[in-house]
Amino acid sequence: MDVNQQKDEAADGLVIGLPQFQAFAETSLDGCLLLDGQGKTLFCNARAAAMLGQSAADVLGHAPGLALPEAGTAHLDGEQAGRGAGHLWANVQPVLWGGQPARLVVLTDLAERKATPEELDSVWKIQLRMKDEFLSRVSHELRSPLNAVYQYVTILLDGLAGKINNEQREYLGIALRNVKQLRNMIGDLLDVTRSRSNKLHLAPCEMDVAQTVAAALDTVRHEAQAKTLSLSVQLQEGLPAAFADPQRVQQVLVNLLDNAIKFTPPGGEIRVSAGVAGPPAGDLEIAVSDSGCGIAEEDRERIFQHLYQVHKSIDQKRVGLGLGLFICRDLVSRLGGRIWVDSRVGEGSTFRFTLPAFSPELAVLSLIDDRLAEAKAGGDMFSLVVVDADVDAKAVLPVWEALLSAVLEEEGVAVYAGKRFVVCVEAELTDCRAVRDRVRRLAKKVCLSLVPNLSSALSFGVAAAGPDTESAEALLRQAVSTAVSEKALLAQKSVVVVDDEESYLRLLAKFISALGLRSVRTATSGAGLFALLDAEVPDLIVLDLQMQGMNGHEVIGRLKENPKTALLPIVVVSGYVEERKAGENLRPGPEVPALSKLNLAEVQRWVQYLL
Ligand code: ADP
Repeated sequence: MDVNQQKDEAADGLVIGLPQFQAFAETSLDGCLLLDGQGKTLFCNARAAAMLGQSAADVLGHAPGLALPEAGTAHLDGEQAGRGAGHLWANVQPVLWGGQPARLVVLTDLAERKATPEELDSVWKIQLRMKDEFLSRVSHELRSPLNAVYQYVTILLDGLAGKINNEQREYLGIALRNVKQLRNMIGDLLDVTRSRSNKLHLAPCEMDVAQTVAAALDTVRHEAQAKTLSLSVQLQEGLPAAFADPQRVQQVLVNLLDNAIKFTPPGGEIRVSAGVAGPPAGDLEIAVSDSGCGIAEEDRERIFQHLYQVHKSIDQKRVGLGLGLFICRDLVSRLGGRIWVDSRVGEGSTFRFTLPAFSPELAVLSLIDDRLAEAKAGGDMFSLVVVDADVDAKAVLPVWEALLSAVLEEEGVAVYAGKRFVVCVEAELTDCRAVRDRVRRLAKKVCLSLVPNLSSALSFGVAAAGPDTESAEALLRQAVSTAVSEKALLAQKSVVVVDDEESYLRLLAKFISALGLRSVRTATSGAGLFALLDAEVPDLIVLDLQMQGMNGHEVIGRLKENPKTALLPIVVVSGYVEERKAGENLRPGPEVPALSKLNLAEVQRWVQYLL
């Protein structure tokens, strides 16, 4: 900032004279300093001198040795305050002093003020949050122009804008490498800020380790070759799948491989290996080893810290922000693993990380955990519905696949593992049974079109979750404990079948009874049906359209007039195609057609679906 600019800014602010200032400063319990445009001390009160551990006379004419901002407030830790210990709070105000720009500084000793650890913590948190917001915004803004530079340089290098000579190619190559490095650094910054604000999205699934390792190696192969480093892979045979996010694991691997390339001299070796780790038994361990400079014992833990870089690493030209390993640790721990390094200075390093092996139970709990974290952050509610199938896992697979698409369309999240399908649906706490029935209806609909008999092998449990829910395990247990089988649910239902052809009526009633319902009553006329309804309203009516006396159309009209029966599901049947066509617009729901009387199994299927 030049002097004129400072003058302008200060002119909008405070202009004070010596008497007022001295009177104010000498009586203040805080430290007061006045610094000229070059940062030299023009005035220092006794309190400030004591804070700086010098006499006022010694401070005058010199810079006070504090890392002060041009204006505004700052928290100075022990190092920045030049005292080796204690924390100062500095408030800096630009002023005009004798017509020249100057800075008025008020210092508060946070330790002497007996700031509580909570106060200090909250100041730190505010500062960190502001820094993260700033970094996130800057990184976002930098991304687009940088991408444009990347694209144009690539176009030039590919010769799409005309022929280039060797020298130009070399320079453009250097430009491209630097742009790539900048892109990586910005990516790292964005990841760190996303992670802090809990916006880092991970999508763990059944991950093939070999595929992910191969993808990571492809990314760095060119660079390793350019530095004449050998790359090799060793994977344990029959390695089980991991439960992890392949994109993020690839990011971790590329980070470790990039470092290995950076810190290994030409001609060295880099090796990736993976196997089953232990304990805890069943976890997978992936390692990236190099024959590079190695890491001193005292740095082996610190390198995983935010912004930490080892001084005097062999590659002085190296670039990076010291965020790579910090992000690796964050990602690996979010995936339920851990990361560490074994190393010998001068001989090389091996970075190892673990990942949980895939298991259906883990996949289910992870889905619920994620949804719970969202609910806790947003304060919203959801219901967990667990659908279990009492059949072979392979038989139910097509049903689960179709059910998953149906659930996603309704904006729920779901996962299936073996015989279990788990779905989280947005819902109010009081709405549990309705949510269960919504999922049950979807499941039965899927069965109806794929494997009709399978729906009677399903059972449904439900539990409501919200910000107070203890854990994913507890919620799952609760849902499973309420499980009711489709058979049990059907055993509570009652149906009335209406047809004036008695022999057919008996046959149809027999087919429907086979569903195991509580009651199947029959009526041979519309009048007979209404007499039965007076005694008890059923859960569904099967109705022939062609009847002597009151025909099916009239019956439906009367049912709709009565609020008690207006919403009853009705399956209409007829022996005549024409009659069925006419009955189409009478059908109870858009998805249920008027059915042929002859196809008893079909009628039975729709009854089962609608109940
Ligand atoms: P940077 O962006 O600086 O590489 P990282 O977090 O990835 O940041 O690494 C932190 C520090 O750890 C590096 O600056 C380096 O000193 C050390 N380091 C990381 N990987 C290796 C390695 N394979 N060999 C030696 N030192 C390493």
